[in-house]
Amino acid sequence: MTYPTYHNLIGGAWVPAESGKTILNLNPADHSDVIGAFPASDAEDVARAVAAAKKASALWRLVPAPKRAEILLRTGMLLQERKEKYAREMTREMGKVLAETRGDVQEAIDEAFYVAGEGRRLFGQTTPSELPNKFAMSVRMPVGVVGMITPWNFPMAIPSWKLFPALVAGNTCVIKPAEDTPLSTCNLVQTLMDAGLPPGVVNIVTGFGPDAGAPLVEHPDVRAISFTGSSEVGSLVAQRAAATFKQVSLEMGGKNAQIVLGDANLDLALDGALWGAFGTTGQRCTATSRILLQRGIAAEFTERLVARAEKLRVGNGLDEQIEIGPQIHAQQIETSKKYVDIALGEGAKLLTGGRVLQEGAYSKGTFFAPTVFAGVTSTMRIAREEVFGPVVSLVEFDTFEQAVEIANSIDYGLSTALYTRDVNRAFTAIRDLEAGITYINAPTIGAEVHLPFGGVKHTGNGHREGNGALDFFTTWKAVYVDYSDKLQRAQIDNAE
Ligand code: ADP
Repeated sequence: MTYPTYHNLIGGAWVPAESGKTILNLNPADHSDVIGAFPASDAEDVARAVAAAKKASALWRLVPAPKRAEILLRTGMLLQERKEKYAREMTREMGKVLAETRGDVQEAIDEAFYVAGEGRRLFGQTTPSELPNKFAMSVRMPVGVVGMITPWNFPMAIPSWKLFPALVAGNTCVIKPAEDTPLSTCNLVQTLMDAGLPPGVVNIVTGFGPDAGAPLVEHPDVRAISFTGSSEVGSLVAQRAAATFKQVSLEMGGKNAQIVLGDANLDLALDGALWGAFGTTGQRCTATSRILLQRGIAAEFTERLVARAEKLRVGNGLDEQIEIGPQIHAQQIETSKKYVDIALGEGAKLLTGGRVLQEGAYSKGTFFAPTVFAGVTSTMRIAREEVFGPVVSLVEFDTFEQAVEIANSIDYGLSTALYTRDVNRAFTAIRDLEAGITYINAPTIGAEVHLPFGGVKHTGNGHREGNGALDFFTTWKAVYVDYSDKLQRAQIDNAE
């Protein structure tokens, strides 16, 4: 079997891991398709990457922000040209269907164009001083070297959400992509380099989380960590980063509810439920994993949902006819299986799916049938814990107030959706649903880059990506210029 060997990017040079160890990147739809061998990096590689980022920081922070932004603008334009190629490579390494990987690259393009505009903004404030002949303002400063740890489900979009705002703000970066999808990060960063990014400003270290992610979190020269992944690992990252007082941005799990009220447009709600639950094979932090149905419409909705779920075409995402790709790897299949068993044990009713697909071409990859459970109550584990697979639970309720209570009764708080024609209920839900995102008459998935992205409770630690990212990737400096030519003491010389 022949396949290419890829390297880490350190100080502008593509280099193997010091140890020489590699990880094979396999197509989850067909394990005989090897995308390539990538470095299995460790603390030594991370230390080199951080040193390169630190060195590059001295120059990069002094490049005027509008110039930094021009590189991002060019990156966006180059990504437009490369969109189809990168989307195909992403489908091979991650599995999701081509329409979705094109969307993933598009999100990086949108982010590039959005953030490029920030190069001429990065606004601070001017404000009056309490003393005469004194000028006061605040300016955004880069944080320094920032570390990024990213998951496999949005292998280009999520790195772009982190890298682009960090770069426009003058930071230098070390990114550790998920071990399952490093190629898309390499493609993204190669595009940045082709657009004129100087060496060392972004460095890539590929490898497993405990070997390559943990040393990045612990490295004393890294000033901030931006993490997207599971709540379990996010908690670990936050605890380890605390030892060196790093800023940490965490974007983690979800157990997102779509509420369908009796007055909703059921066709629309059905389209939304199918896309929200089974798009990206349910492997989105914003995936719909609970559908809350008002009792009057529950039977009809359930029947139609199951019929549509059974018709979904599951297979290799490179085939344009396919609607649902594989799960990322065998471990994720095990999780889906485990939760099917848990749900059955709890008394939920399996309406369709619930099994690994193994017949014919499915045997080459890791496929799971779209799965629907009915008769789920809000206290069951299947209604509370993240599965991250094509598994959705139907929960019935009587009143709108009950629906909001059920939606809020979990530890997570990322995305929520309400289908109704009642504007009063819609605004009440916007006010009362405990989540970082609420959609009205649209599914729980589909964030746009120029709005805040993130969640509450166990989903996040208060930071936001999207239009909130600059607040994480900059630090405020207060500046006072005294032009009175004498000592003026704040709180003393201006006191009555
Ligand atoms: P997912 O469910 O998306 O696989 P994980 O939280 O397991 O989420 O992984 C997200 C990212 O965190 C990946 O890049 C992974 O390699 C990394 N990671 C996993 N374990 C650790 C760890 N102990 N320290 C730092 N990073 C880790």
